[in-house]
Amino acid sequence: MKIAEIHIYSHDLPVKNGPYTMARAQVWALDTTLVKLIAENGLIGWGETCPVGPTYAESHASGARAALAQMAPDLLGAEVSPLGLHRRMDDLLNGHNYAKAAIDIAAHDLLGKLYGISVSTLLGGAVTDKVPSYYATGIGAPDDIASLAAEKQAEGYLRLQIKVGGRPVELDIETIRKVWEVIGGSGMRLAVDGNRGWTTRDALRVSRECPDIPFIMEQPCNTIEDLQKIRPQVGHAIYMDENSTSLNTIITAAGTGLVDGFGMKVTRIGGLHPMRAFRDLCEARNLPHTCDDSWGGDIIAAACTHIGATVKPELLEGVWLAAPYIEGNYDPENGIRIEGGRIRVPTGPGLGITPDERRFGVPVASF
Ligand SMILES: [Mg+2]
Repeated sequence: MKIAEIHIYSHDLPVKNGPYTMARAQVWALDTTLVKLIAENGLIGWGETCPVGPTYAESHASGARAALAQMAPDLLGAEVSPLGLHRRMDDLLNGHNYAKAAIDIAAHDLLGKLYGISVSTLLGGAVTDKVPSYYATGIGAPDDIASLAAEKQAEGYLRLQIKVGGRPVELDIETIRKVWEVIGGSGMRLAVDGNRGWTTRDALRVSRECPDIPFIMEQPCNTIEDLQKIRPQVGHAIYMDENSTSLNTIITAAGTGLVDGFGMKVTRIGGLHPMRAFRDLCEARNLPHTCDDSWGGDIIAAACTHIGATVKPELLEGVWLAAPYIEGNYDPENGIRIEGGRIRVPTGPGLGITPDERRFGVPVASF
């Protein structure tokens, strides 16, 4: 099965009750990029990539579309094989994993449809029909975040991630304490995500002042060197998120014991093909991780859910989706939803969702 046509779309996803605030970014709306691959046999596969603004990672929406347009003419006629497509894309363009991920996801959707199996089956096989999600709060006043924690616990979430950084660290410490007063002893697990926003001084202080609270510290500081500096001094487990940009970095971080787990984004690493290698590396080192995306609609959500369903359950920290923060679904019938803190794994062939493409308008580029 070969690629016959590639269509690229730009689509605005409004954020509910915006902005969503992180240490280094405010999100009001999302500019997502969709890719439709049409195979020579007429089958259609969908992919998506949605950088959450231009400062969260080294990626942005226009960059995704430019990178896709750069590669697309030379992908026509290529065999729909994730491994072959990655090698071809790497020969055409250095880096830009987040753009390559849209092609990768669409290729998995196409292959699943060709064989009549789901993407999770292609990725090794689902071990569950429902994966746990987790809720991520934005940055907010300590009492507000504590109330939100109570609400999300009541909804059935098993894990909460609170955002910190970008403000006096005393407020972050107060937030952590107030949230723990609400959820401590309930079984709900806590992650504290700095999104690169703390100095090493702040991270060390938080760990020193909260030794009794068993949270994991996610990407507290900006660089790998910062993580190396705080690693021997903090009492809390450290997870790497934004710094884990490639399998190469991940192998070093896991192999040197720099981190205790990962917050992982499917598009940051280049899509589902590298994601399955990441999953297997983590299982070999017994490292827990999430299967998230930086944001996006049903297509990314389906991709994250399928890979999440194949992870050894005791190592899966959850599948984070933007669904609670954005309006509507691309697929009104089978769109991905979080219910009771869990996500049902789609059962149809490929990604198991059929986007209503009228929502996306005319393509911004076609090849
Ligand atoms: Mg994170």
